[in-house]
Amino acid sequence: MNNEQNKIPQATAKRLPLYYRFINNLHLQGKLRVSSKELSEAVKVDSATIRRDFSYFGALGKKGYGYNVEYLLKFFRKTLDQDEVTKVSLIGVGNLGTAFLNYNFMKNNNTKIEMGFDASTEKVGKEIGGVPVHHIDELEAKLEDTTVAILTVPSSEAQNIAERLVKAGILGILNFTPARITVPDHVRVHHIDLAVELQSLVYFLKHYPLDEEETE
Ligand code: ATP
Repeated sequence: MNNEQNKIPQATAKRLPLYYRFINNLHLQGKLRVSSKELSEAVKVDSATIRRDFSYFGALGKKGYGYNVEYLLKFFRKTLDQDEVTKVSLIGVGNLGTAFLNYNFMKNNNTKIEMGFDASTEKVGKEIGGVPVHHIDELEAKLEDTTVAILTVPSSEAQNIAERLVKAGILGILNFTPARITVPDHVRVHHIDLAVELQSLVYFLKHYPLDEEETE
């Protein structure tokens, strides 16, 4: 999200994806303009709210013409970062890593795993889910403009690999290893420990049954 977006009220920002989807459909149908009434009926938001929302986008509809579809589409794409795909690298192409490469995240998302890295010669040189797997020795040379990495190596390797990632310019790490990693302040780490999450779910089911909580 860019800075301009900060000026848009949150309630308006929440409606952006809704507007975007409808405007995108209109564009695909070859429509050049749309009235606030048409929009209002399609997205179920009253037209006064639409006019106010759109004024934040710098889109001032003209009487008898409506809004320019192309302009709106450009604005939404830019604001929602739909034009920009964030490149992601994955380190550790084991069972979990392989599943992520096959899944990738492009279906409804603007992130894409572009490269995998592994230490095992059995995996290096392969393509999994269309993603090439490079040797971990090539990490620094290959990363280039990648800013996000997924960590699916064994726990014992996590800190060492994280340090190499940081030195190579990575700004965000999604850590799937059970290890807690230490990084400088400018790097954001999100930790997902599947075993802990599962254990926690089982614990909550046992000790805090939902119906009991609701009647409290
Ligand atoms: P598998 O059954 O394929 O080994 P796993 O997820 O159970 O999968 P792990 O031991 O967790 O295996 O290792 C995950 C992956 O990380 C493996 O493919 C392994 O080759 C790789 N790996 C181990 N050490 C490193 C390292 N230093 N750098 C990069 N990849 C590594």
